[in-house]
Amino acid sequence: LSEVKVKTESKEYSVHIGPGASEMLPEVLKTFNKAPKTILIITDDVVAKLYLDKIEAAIDQSCTVHHFILPNGEGSKSFQNYYEIQSFALEKGLDRNSVVIALGGGVVGDIAGFVASTFMRGIKFIQIPTTLLAHDSAVGGKVAINHPLGKNMIGAFYQPEAVLYDTSFISTLPEGELRSGFAEVVKHALIWDKGFYEWIKENIPSLEALDEERLMYCIEKGIQTKAEVVSSDETEQGLRAILNYGHTLGHALEAAYGYGGISHGDGVALGMLFATELSEELVPSLDLSKELRTLWKKFGFPSKIKPGIHPEDILNWMKKDKKSKSGHIHMVLMQEVGKVLLESVPDDVIIKKLASFY
Ligand code: NAD
Ligand code: ZN
Repeated sequence: LSEVKVKTESKEYSVHIGPGASEMLPEVLKTFNKAPKTILIITDDVVAKLYLDKIEAAIDQSCTVHHFILPNGEGSKSFQNYYEIQSFALEKGLDRNSVVIALGGGVVGDIAGFVASTFMRGIKFIQIPTTLLAHDSAVGGKVAINHPLGKNMIGAFYQPEAVLYDTSFISTLPEGELRSGFAEVVKHALIWDKGFYEWIKENIPSLEALDEERLMYCIEKGIQTKAEVVSSDETEQGLRAILNYGHTLGHALEAAYGYGGISHGDGVALGMLFATELSEELVPSLDLSKELRTLWKKFGFPSKIKPGIHPEDILNWMKKDKKSKSGHIHMVLMQEVGKVLLESVPDDVIIKKLASFY
């Protein structure tokens, strides 16, 4: 197993990465000042079938374990489910000393973290991510649910006590979900680490074949990047916004397609291509989008927007982005691989570029 430390103003914690990392759960629970009497595991129906027994069995018998199983998919990050989990936790008698465990992908991690952040003004939580994408979502403390008027609009910054990233869970991921995770891996390379980006280009076939060593290297690199960025800017006053590369359009597409209509990673991949092309218009020395298009084909990422969705609608969704200021869209743009920054982009420039993505 390897370990990455995340140090933020509010908390310092470890991310344990590798096959069997979830077996560290009892050890982690022992490090808490007061042993919890009740634990609530939040998961989804797919993950529950695969891994819930294993996690429950690992917890000491002296502790009462409850679980709440959500239907899988983005639609579950809802206020209704948030409310139902809170009610469940109250009915089962969870107290301030109880612990929430998020067992699943980013959907479970985001809603479970938000539940933990607000139940009795905040109780401890542990992330046990099960998707490749969740190497990103489980680290850094952004927790949220969606609102019909916008994605991740209700949430908090709330760090977990620990993240146990068990890489053996990746083996059961469907192909599309694996691809979605690779989008965030590529993002971490593009915004922060040119050497890593070059490495990815050369290793796609072995990554897609789930070569264990290389996959773990990717996950570690991604988590290290995230940890470094978040450590210097926990609540996104500045630098942290760079993690949003590809997300202004990505989130807008997720909303415009209907939640679940496009995976988070596919949306972000399309968004990164879009942001890269816009960057090239501003930075003449940047010549990357052609290469990305080839890379996108290899990964199987989309490079076109679904017909029937209007650029104007997408623009309106983009304006709801949390980086927007007084109705002006701000996007993360690239200067060179490994170096990005936040820029305001006029509406007409966005509309014109969107039109070229059909
Ligand atoms: P997800 O949680 O919906 O998981 C994808 C699918 O894979 C689900 O159907 C799930 O049941 C299934 N699954 C999970 N683990 C599995 C396994 N080991 N084997 C087989 N199937 C498995 O989606 P995701 O891609 O993990 O996360 C996307 C969400 O993460 C979005 O809501 C996005 O907004 C959020 N996100 C949050 C952050 C953050 O910083 N908080 C960062 C990135 C993304
Ligand atoms: Zn993301």
